[in-house]
Amino acid sequence: MGYRVPFVDAVAAYGKVKPEVDAAIFGCLEHGDLVYRHQLKAFESEFAGFIGSKHVVGLNSGYHALLFALLGAGVGAGDEVITVAHTFVATVSAIVHTGATPVLIEVADDFNMDPARLEAAITPRTKAVLPVHLNGRVAPMTEIMAIAQRHGLAVIEDAAQAIGARHDGRTAGTIGAAGCFSFYPFKVLGGYGDGGALCTDDDDLATMARRLRYNGEDRETGEYHHHGHTALLDNIQAAVLSVKLRHLPGWLERRRELFTRYDAGLRGTPDVILPPMDGGAHHDICQNYVLRTPSREAMREHLREEGIETLVHWPKPMWEHRSLGLPDPGLAFTERLCREVISLPLSPELTDEQADEVVAAVRSFR
Ligand SMILES: *Cc1c(COP(=O)(O)O)cnc(C)c1O
Repeated sequence: MGYRVPFVDAVAAYGKVKPEVDAAIFGCLEHGDLVYRHQLKAFESEFAGFIGSKHVVGLNSGYHALLFALLGAGVGAGDEVITVAHTFVATVSAIVHTGATPVLIEVADDFNMDPARLEAAITPRTKAVLPVHLNGRVAPMTEIMAIAQRHGLAVIEDAAQAIGARHDGRTAGTIGAAGCFSFYPFKVLGGYGDGGALCTDDDDLATMARRLRYNGEDRETGEYHHHGHTALLDNIQAAVLSVKLRHLPGWLERRRELFTRYDAGLRGTPDVILPPMDGGAHHDICQNYVLRTPSREAMREHLREEGIETLVHWPKPMWEHRSLGLPDPGLAFTERLCREVISLPLSPELTDEQADEVVAAVRSFR
């Protein structure tokens, strides 16, 4: 079915940058720049400048950034890593694939790690804390860092949904030992396929991630230092991301306008909880606009009938996917979020008129 307001419009998004993107892609093809060429290094240094980090290591997914950051922090079998239950499964899978045990804790009503729950989850086996900056808002890092430092724990940031977001004047991904980013097509900075990056100020961690992504090899000496992975950021994707990074500030501005428009239009709607608006210590980047309503399924159906496409992240808690083998941590608020959340269309391509249609449709729900 064609939606009047699709969740995202990848074709329209391409249309806005087509000449530059085509030139970047064909430039790679015409020069045979396919793997680990100057476009990758150029993008890494541009992205490092954008977020303010010493090193950026381009990888083929956000998942690999998480995995390599954890391995770089020395996480392995027998360790525990504390993260939130309300996140994308890749956050937890990265922990599992190091051999460590994920310990899932509750989020607060801004969808991010509740620092009040963190200390109680720490055991002698805890090695690291993995806060997630969900929906474009940085988790309460000042408190999380203080607790982690008190217990000697590494902090790895899942900044996949928070490219450019800030908290207390610091940028997502640059606060802990490493920050992990995703360039999946529908993140605020997306390629035309999978991509990701790890950022860190730690020279050793950066070196290890650079080797892990290239089958463990040190490219200068040819020495293999690890049983590694094949996980380089694709050169063509890097060339595309360089183009898109130049547009990102404008796109983030447009997202903010739309977010504010939704907020003004939807304020006071009965039985609907609006997402947190930033201000004070928080500068959010409006990755998603997530409502909460007790009659989520009926609301979703109503919006579908009105021609508006929505998404639900996530309809059931991770531990209910039995094959993942995760124990039920008994987190009532996370379970409630799974029943209540609904994401409205929010992308720079959305017009004011479309946003107003979405507002009217939400308000007309009975
Ligand atoms: C997108 C995302 C990831 C994983 O990124 P990929 O590039 O798809 O591997 C991890 N965590 C969160 C919170 C995400 O939204």
